[in-house]
This record gives sequence, structure tokens and C-alpha cells, in this order.
Amino acid sequence: MPVRIIKYPHPTLRHKSKPLRRVDAELKKIIQEMLDLMCADKGIGLAANQVDLPYRLFVVNLQADPAAKDQQYVFINPVITRRSGTAEDEEGCLSFPEIYVPVRRSEKITVGAYNLAGEEVSYELSGLFARAVQHEADHLDGVLFIDRLGPSSRLAVKQQLADLETEFAADRRRGQIGDDQQIAARLAELEVLRT
Ligand code: ZN
Repeated sequence: MPVRIIKYPHPTLRHKSKPLRRVDAELKKIIQEMLDLMCADKGIGLAANQVDLPYRLFVVNLQADPAAKDQQYVFINPVITRRSGTAEDEEGCLSFPEIYVPVRRSEKITVGAYNLAGEEVSYELSGLFARAVQHEADHLDGVLFIDRLGPSSRLAVKQQLADLETEFAADRRRGQIGDDQQIAARLAELEVLRT
């Protein structure tokens, strides 16, 4: 079944993911789908949680362009090992359509991870790339950009969040989304498979 992007307040967005033990052919196919979905929605980053998967994995393409292969990064089991400085800039999230707010992040980071070839990689990042990686790494811990807002931004997005909550409840009533127990059971199964 093809993956799709889940929206706030889907419970998987609050799931703290476990490290991947193996990347099999099926997961590689899913990663390609994640890259395609992200670019189709003009996103520059997408975490596994956002496609309802409990794995420490995210993809980044700062150009949101599938043709820009050299801009395409897959981070598996990423760990941010160093942070310095502070920078504030506007952020959005594919799980929060049409919400853009300033978020404070570290200005520079060092991140270690495995790439799709299974090689250990390490990057020193700043600017938009550093911001995207911090945003996506948060997702893997069940942390969302709305958790990092100042009081005025929080107030500014209050109504939009309430609207997303109403939409989610309606989708659930229509049977398009399972209940919390069904979602948790599925995540547990997927964890047994690969973590
Ligand atoms: Zn996001």
C-alpha cells in the first residue's frame, strides 16, 4: 500500500521512534515514495512518523525537486552531536498545511547518520539545511514545531490547529483513520519487523 502523509493531530506524530536495525527492499521503496510525496507537496523534509511509520528515518531535499538528485539526502538513525548559536526563521510542516511560524533553532549543528547505502556519514550544517534536519530529527522523538513556539506565535496558530483537530475528528468518524489502539498495534508490529 502506498504511503501517505498524515496530518496533525494524528497520534503517530507523537510517537518516539526506535532506531532501524535493517533497511530492506520494501523500506527502500517506501523511502523513494517519501521523497516523491515530499517534493510533490513542495516540502524540503519528511520524517517517517509523517507517513505513519515508527522508524528513525527522514529525507531532505532543500530544492523540493526530484530531478535535483544531488540535493537528496536520506538520514537513517540520525543523531545531532553538536549544536551552536541560535537562529530564528519561519517554518512549515507537511503535517500542518498552511501553517508558517517563526521557530528558534540552533544555528549550526553536526549530525551523524547512516545513508541509504548503509555508510556512516557526518555533516556540519548551517542555515536552512541545519533547520530542516533539526525539525525532522524532532519528529522522530514525537516533537512538533508547534511545541517550540513563543507565546505570540502559539496564539497566532491556535485557530488553525483547532481546525486541523476538527478535520481529523471528522476523518475518524468517517472511518478513514483507526482508533488509538489500532494505530499503536500497527506501529508495534512494524517495530518488531525492523527495529
Ligand atoms: Zn514537520
